[in-house]
Amino acid sequence: MPELPEVETLSRQLQEKICSGKILATEVYDDKLAGIKNLKGRIVTAVERRGKTVAILLDDGNFVLIHLRMTGRLFWQEDSTRPKHSRWRMTFAAGNIFLIDPRRFATIKILKNAESESAKDIFKAFDLKAFLKNHGSRRTKVKSLIMDQRAVAGIGNIYACEILHRTGIHPERVAATLTKDDWKKVFRQAKVVLKTAIKKRGTSISDWRDLYGCKGENQHELKAYGREGKRCSICGGTICRIKQGGRSTFFCPDCQK
Ligand SMILES: [Zn+2]
Repeated sequence: MPELPEVETLSRQLQEKICSGKILATEVYDDKLAGIKNLKGRIVTAVERRGKTVAILLDDGNFVLIHLRMTGRLFWQEDSTRPKHSRWRMTFAAGNIFLIDPRRFATIKILKNAESESAKDIFKAFDLKAFLKNHGSRRTKVKSLIMDQRAVAGIGNIYACEILHRTGIHPERVAATLTKDDWKKVFRQAKVVLKTAIKKRGTSISDWRDLYGCKGENQHELKAYGREGKRCSICGGTICRIKQGGRSTFFCPDCQK
């Protein structure tokens, strides 16, 4: 599932490719998206990430909000041959954007005011003071808390493992046992980890591909996620895997306390 760095990558690539472009047509191929109106004639004024959605801003003040969910991808192609599993297409003079989505969970909405998923976005409006006040004394495990989008938006499973590994904090620590300095470290590392992932155009462990169908390169930067049994780059210990809330957590029991 695309997380913040992947959605940011797409938004930047789209901004470069279609900003100022005139939409020649949009076409729906899937009944589940039948309500989406034709945007023919509209001009794209900007493309931005809003939380985990891609927001395409139009000259009439409306927004196209695309949430990729599990298997959604946006794919740029010059010719108009429909790739397999296409559900929607937006056509410009230079080419087409296809929504490709085998499991059909992705959603597209056209809204007057883009609902903000970014109120607690770690790069936009995150407030450590408010976070500590509302969540600092919770008995939740730290990894679950930093992945709770209502507490801080933008950290998914892969990046949560990386952040805690760099911070030296055990993923099962109770949130309330962390000091303010611990939290400062967590969010400082969160920004470093996410920025690196954006620079590397996301993590392609399974099916993530960017707008041009290319793999990201952040999988080569991972120090904990997916590295069960391998050496810890920090202390030389061995990375372990446990299950937490149905998701795999990777960490080093020697340096994460
Ligand atoms: Zn270690």
